[in-house]
Amino acid sequence: MTRVLQPYFILKNVMQRPYNFSAGPATIAPEVLAQAADEMLDWPDASGKRCGMGVMEMSHRGKEFQSIYEHAEADLRELLSVPSHFNILFMQGGGLAENAFVPLNLCALGSTDGTAGTADFVVTGSWSDKSQNEARKYCQVNIAATNAADGHTGMPEPSTWKLTKGARYVHLCTNETIHGVEYQTLPDLKALGSSAPLVIDFSSHVASRRVDWSRVGLAFAGAQKNLGPAGLTLVVVRQDLLGHALPICPSAFNYKTVADNQSMFNTPPTFAIYMAGLIFKWLKRQGGIAAMEQRNMAKAQLLYDTLDTSAFYFNKVHPACRSRMNVPFFLRDESLNDAFLAGAKAANLLQLKGHKSVGGMRASIYNAMPLEGVQALVDYMREFERTHR
Ligand SMILES: *Cc1c(COP(=O)(O)O)cnc(C)c1O
Repeated sequence: MTRVLQPYFILKNVMQRPYNFSAGPATIAPEVLAQAADEMLDWPDASGKRCGMGVMEMSHRGKEFQSIYEHAEADLRELLSVPSHFNILFMQGGGLAENAFVPLNLCALGSTDGTAGTADFVVTGSWSDKSQNEARKYCQVNIAATNAADGHTGMPEPSTWKLTKGARYVHLCTNETIHGVEYQTLPDLKALGSSAPLVIDFSSHVASRRVDWSRVGLAFAGAQKNLGPAGLTLVVVRQDLLGHALPICPSAFNYKTVADNQSMFNTPPTFAIYMAGLIFKWLKRQGGIAAMEQRNMAKAQLLYDTLDTSAFYFNKVHPACRSRMNVPFFLRDESLNDAFLAGAKAANLLQLKGHKSVGGMRASIYNAMPLEGVQALVDYMREFERTHR
């Protein structure tokens, strides 16, 4: 006997969910989860006609999934204003796997004999450090700049980067999820005298703000922060960068192969693409990326203002490069950390513990975290301060 949950029942329950500040996998808008629940057993097409299958049960080559895929791609292209000379690839492997796939695909770029050259890395925190470490397996690595000396709390000015002449690409993590530092504008490599394409890891702030594609060669992101469930990896790549992979690059992760087959060289993560597609529709209903960017600024300002005006809490990141998505913060009296987290949980504010390498607290306030969630956090913080000062 199957029991089918009615949408109103699900909605009523999901709307009273706690606020989840996880860094990833992260919170998803309740109405998106409710829609997925409603469609789980029997997916309806755009006209509302049910097809008798759930999305997980469909062939990726059938017309139902084709339509899910095409809508997801078109909506993402529209939302992020991706120009037509870029391909959108829906892949697997996550952000860390891209640390290998990027050099495998790009480090022979521009060479006459197909051999690997040098890639420049700007190291601004744990994620870009992992990227440069992995790339060493495939190519020469030059650390063009690092903010390690200040504990990853600032961003090295592009004018100070030591770029390699003839570098195959320049890697930048535009939002360091663990340290909470974010580039507010993308560097103009041409103006810095480099003709290399810029590769950005935008895993933890994709779709939270607009992207200046004129400065980007390739962007990648794991989906589980701002685009949906884990298992889907987004790659946006300029077409002239396709077709230069090293011979050892696995076919399923050769960007040209993936692009030539509309991300269907192998079975793509169909359910994760479907979920991302629901989130893209939700983002459009919210007013698109420019509207999200405004909201994200307001959310971040509320939280940083609270930290900056308090003698009880603090944030270490230089104000000019504070992340709008990931806000690490500390209690001056660290012996209160456990009480702070226990009280937060009791107040329905979840997953605020900081990354183990940084300590303290971290509030990740991605697109799906409403202003009310940040307000609830700030109210709790003030109350905790008042009762523990
Ligand atoms: C989460 C994250 C990753 C890692 O993604 P996985 O899917 O776990 O491989 C990479 N880069 C950044 C900036 C991230 O925030």
